[in-house]
Amino acid sequence: MITRFAPSPTGPLHLGHAYSAMLAYDMAMSRNGVFLLRIEDIDQSRARPKWEAQIYDDLHWLGLRWPSPVMRQSDRLHSYRSAIERLWHDGLLYACHCTRADIAAATAAPQEGVPTLGPDGAIYPGTCRPLDGNRSPGPAPTDAALRLNIGMVACRLGTTPVLSFTETGAGPNGAKAAVDFTLADLARTTGDIVLARRHMGTSYHLSVVVDDAAQGVTHVVRGQDLFDATKIHVLLQHLLSLPSPIYHHHRLIRDDNGKRLAKRDDARALSAFRAEGATPADIRRLVGL
Ligand code: GLU
Repeated sequence: MITRFAPSPTGPLHLGHAYSAMLAYDMAMSRNGVFLLRIEDIDQSRARPKWEAQIYDDLHWLGLRWPSPVMRQSDRLHSYRSAIERLWHDGLLYACHCTRADIAAATAAPQEGVPTLGPDGAIYPGTCRPLDGNRSPGPAPTDAALRLNIGMVACRLGTTPVLSFTETGAGPNGAKAAVDFTLADLARTTGDIVLARRHMGTSYHLSVVVDDAAQGVTHVVRGQDLFDATKIHVLLQHLLSLPSPIYHHHRLIRDDNGKRLAKRDDARALSAFRAEGATPADIRRLVGL
């Protein structure tokens, strides 16, 4: 078994991160497996060396150990580029020049019964989507966002195939075991998501899929909030001929008001608990491990 914890160094780790990391670590250790750490720092406008250093420090303090060298996404842009080129040449991506404001304006009058929000926010209304798919022979452009043309994917894959992944944790409705979904579901609830952000060449969804495969991760342990995004990941694994790991989505750690913890909730930062004299055993107790 290979599990991983994949934080973004954009703020302090809080109790929710500690729970996720310790759960992934415990699962790997209980099966004589390996626990990996991966630094998800593709968003260089928000990643900071100070947060990365604190991630190592906090996780060591919690008693977690992992093999070196640690994978850092900023070192792997060439791998993401190859995956993007493959999808581009398969005619499954298109360049999108819409701004957030354009998308907000185009989705201002939604049709009744049609979902408007997907895992990445507003579902893209398709303004830049080419009617006949992209057949451009050149390399994928980098000065525009590149979106996955889900309608084109459905055409290519033929009759609406059912995609599926194995869930061993708890999806939003307590889902366990096989989770099946169709491309039609994905087109309706997710739409044409961005796989390469402008001037970045990748996105969370693309990088996570490429990296989990590169690291041989067998069990992805992460928060329930990423359950819907998993359908995108499984589709990408299919399109890029990569294996699908088993997914274990866990409950989210909430504050006293039931609100999910966020990076900006500094009061809940692990470093704050440490400064107040808490021990790793206290942290385990606080998150229910
Ligand atoms: N970097 C992502 C986060 O911090 C990790 C998501 C994942 O585990 O797939 O939320």
